[in-house]
Amino acid sequence: MAKKLFIPGPVEVHPEILQAMATPMIGHRMKEYALLHGAVKEKLKKLLFTEGKVFLSTSSAFGVMEGAVRNLVATRCANFCNGAFSNKWHDVTKRCGKEADAFKAEWGKPITPEMVDEALATGKYDAITLVHNETSTGVMSPLAEIAEVLKKYPEVISIVDTVSSMSALKIPVDELGIDCCLFGVQKAFALPPGLAVFTASERALEKAKTIEGRGYYFDFLEFDAADAKDNTPSTPCISQIFALDKQLDRMFAEGLDNRWARHKQLAGRVAQWLEKNGYGFFPEAPYRSVALTCAVNSKGTDLATLKKQLGERGYAFDDGYGKIKGQTFRIAHMGDTQMADLEEFLAVVDELLAGL
Ligand SMILES: *Cc1c(COP(=O)(O)O)cnc(C)c1O
Repeated sequence: MAKKLFIPGPVEVHPEILQAMATPMIGHRMKEYALLHGAVKEKLKKLLFTEGKVFLSTSSAFGVMEGAVRNLVATRCANFCNGAFSNKWHDVTKRCGKEADAFKAEWGKPITPEMVDEALATGKYDAITLVHNETSTGVMSPLAEIAEVLKKYPEVISIVDTVSSMSALKIPVDELGIDCCLFGVQKAFALPPGLAVFTASERALEKAKTIEGRGYYFDFLEFDAADAKDNTPSTPCISQIFALDKQLDRMFAEGLDNRWARHKQLAGRVAQWLEKNGYGFFPEAPYRSVALTCAVNSKGTDLATLKKQLGERGYAFDDGYGKIKGQTFRIAHMGDTQMADLEEFLAVVDELLAGL
């Protein structure tokens, strides 16, 4: 039985998107592809509030996370770590042969502007990695405040992962001054996995020119050269790009303000439900994500059984990530989730909890 996904990625994909995926194939060196690519790029620029370059990578987010450090770190990278994805990024940076240090906040806590300032004030770093929305813990770090700090360090290239936040709230890439903003599409974008999007500022591209060992598949300069022809260096996942085009149209049809408001309302509804049911919140109030909620299992609910029973009822439920499995659980409300979907899910959870 197909399960309705309430896990934080991949998330439920709308039937219209699945249909767009079935569009008859075109060749990526045909004019039809350039038209599709160009149109998608323009729509992404509007969504990301950027006038800069936007590229499409046939990979999941980690491909670009690895590519970004290979292209943009020359001397030493500061990796800010407060959960599973940001911790892994530090490991990836070192595996790429880069000098790097991890600046760690406890799981459940945000990366603060003070942490960033303190690290960069040492003058040791020429790039940073930051995960805006730590999907493992439901923590959203204060990006605007961190961006203000980054403006004090113009020599530092900022690489920001917005995998589970892009389109769930306003992230104006140019205004924030993010050099490389990246995301995969199976979370906040609610598309099937396999495609990632990234931006690169002019100074990021200039810097890449000075760095050896960029490889080929994720070489930002290859992407830039192909971009001039509305194309990609190697064969892209064309079906997913059809789907992305459709999804961007759907986002603008909903209206970005409405989309952002919907995610806030969904987060508010989950918060109210947690409070009513006596569960806690893993992150503190100002840092709770609008795209997913990470709850503390304060009542010691048998989450494994709940997950199993929800599965039998046709719902995929997440009982916590990695080392906080069982102690926490996560409810995703990103992508195309509507209030009616959430109410339907919470009603089934209520019914099952009553019988546990
Ligand atoms: C899921 C996720 C990733 C990794 O994405 P892949 O698609 O597995 O490469 C990276 N960062 C964040 C914040 C995520 O939620």
